[in-house]
Amino acid sequence: MTRVAIVTGGTRGIGEAISIALKNQGCTVIANYCGNDDKAKAFSISTGIATAKWDVGDHEACIDNCARIAAEHGSLDIVVNNAGVTRDGTLARMSFEDWNEVMRINLGGCFNMAKASFTGMRERGWGRIVNIGSINGQAGQYGQVNYAAAKSGIHGFTKALAQEGAKFGVTVNAIAPGYIDTDMVAAVPPAVLEKIVAKIPVGRLGHASEIARGVVFLCSDNAGFVTGSTMSINGGQHMY
Ligand code: NDP
Repeated sequence: MTRVAIVTGGTRGIGEAISIALKNQGCTVIANYCGNDDKAKAFSISTGIATAKWDVGDHEACIDNCARIAAEHGSLDIVVNNAGVTRDGTLARMSFEDWNEVMRINLGGCFNMAKASFTGMRERGWGRIVNIGSINGQAGQYGQVNYAAAKSGIHGFTKALAQEGAKFGVTVNAIAPGYIDTDMVAAVPPAVLEKIVAKIPVGRLGHASEIARGVVFLCSDNAGFVTGSTMSINGGQHMY
């Protein structure tokens, strides 16, 4: 049976790799994005994957788009909550707007997408939700109280929702990536990045495809006994 999957932030970086990997598993994939139309168009042309533009921090937009996609494709079986942003700064410099925006998109997006998809998955007796957290939600990071709080919240959200889905064939898991070579990490100053890489035991940044392989496993039938877990994929940088 063809599974229907939405990957939020699915047109760039880690999300792009996840969209392609799920398509290669035979899923019908819809890659969501929010602002970068040129990249989304190029992605769609090169992969043949449909894109859909909305802000995952917008509750109504998530409800409406998931309902539309489920109606068009017959179901919505897999949601990968990958969309995320950073608005870094020490607490002293961080504005309330920067706090709110990161919470609204990174954590609020997971709530909005789950509200839009979880009931249908439970009714159909099969579903997969994978939330992309972060090593910085596990370990904290200087200058990221907003991002670390949102990502840490994702890990708690995952464990709580997993308990509501377990009896109904719906698993909810998280992946906590370490530092991956995407646009988000390219924004980190080179001197800071050098120090980060020096602390990664495998000696390099991760690749988006390495996160995508974890998502593919968690979305498979073989992972039916895995729920409420956080898979750390970080080159050994943080172990607990
Ligand atoms: P990128 O910045 O490369 O891509 C982010 C994606 O999210 C883009 O597709 C972007 O869309 C989309 N997006 C941003 N805001 C919204 C929104 N409000 N609604 C819908 N889509 C949105 O990020 P990465 O690939 O690096 O990161 C992906 C996820 O992995 C994030 O959650 C990030 O926090 C997490 N992560 C990344 C790590 C890394 O080292 N890269 C490490 C740990 C976690 P558009 O193209 O339209 O802007």
